[in-house]
Amino acid sequence: MSKLESTGTCFLCSGKLSKRAMSKHLQNCRVKSADKVGDPKGKAKVQGATQTFHLLVEGSPMHWLHLEASADATLEQLDAFLRNIWLECCGHLSDFDIGGVTYAGMPSSDYREERSMKIALGRVLGKGQKFRHTYDYGSTTRLDLKVVSTREAAFPARFIQLQARNDPPEIACCECGAPAVLVCTQCLWDGGGWLCKACSRNHECGDEMCLPVVNSPRCGVCGYTGEA
Ligand SMILES: [Zn+2]
Ligand SMILES: [Zn+2]
Ligand SMILES: [Zn+2]
Ligand SMILES: [Zn+2]
Repeated sequence: MSKLESTGTCFLCSGKLSKRAMSKHLQNCRVKSADKVGDPKGKAKVQGATQTFHLLVEGSPMHWLHLEASADATLEQLDAFLRNIWLECCGHLSDFDIGGVTYAGMPSSDYREERSMKIALGRVLGKGQKFRHTYDYGSTTRLDLKVVSTREAAFPARFIQLQARNDPPEIACCECGAPAVLVCTQCLWDGGGWLCKACSRNHECGDEMCLPVVNSPRCGVCGYTGEA
């Protein structure tokens, strides 16, 4: 495993794997850990065989998620899931682009044809489908999604499960090389601004410009703190 290669955790078996190995691993691990599938809080009811989608979500080379979603879950649910884990700062607008069609949280018919997110994944996705999610039309965070595979499985209805996630990337303080815990949103524009606690106290822009370093592609953007 190269030092630069992104690694992550499989939440079905707690295994650590490289980004490249994760898709294949999950296809086997899902079958082995079938009894563990379900809502951790026990609210979702597992039905008989239902169609599911294996989704890979990428926000940057270092930020990725593997989800499994039942075909009757909606784009609106997927949007809420992505906001919760990676995106939500101030309730910005968002949409999905699937094959050139826009599905928006608040569809407008004014200047472009938009459909509602209240539609089941099974009606808009198929195997191999690539699509895009856009959060915030100002300081935009764009996510690339892909249907890696589909299967029939005992899986809860209208449910999305997080099955793997990248481990937090190690980012060094620009001043001293210690692990960064804050990022200056001013300096981030010039590709810097990563700071450890000690160096942030003397940072020229002031600490009101700093946001916490969090495991998300929206780290350092708008007011994102990782606490939705
Ligand atoms: Zn696993
Ligand atoms: Zn915001
Ligand atoms: Zn430092
Ligand atoms: Zn700064």
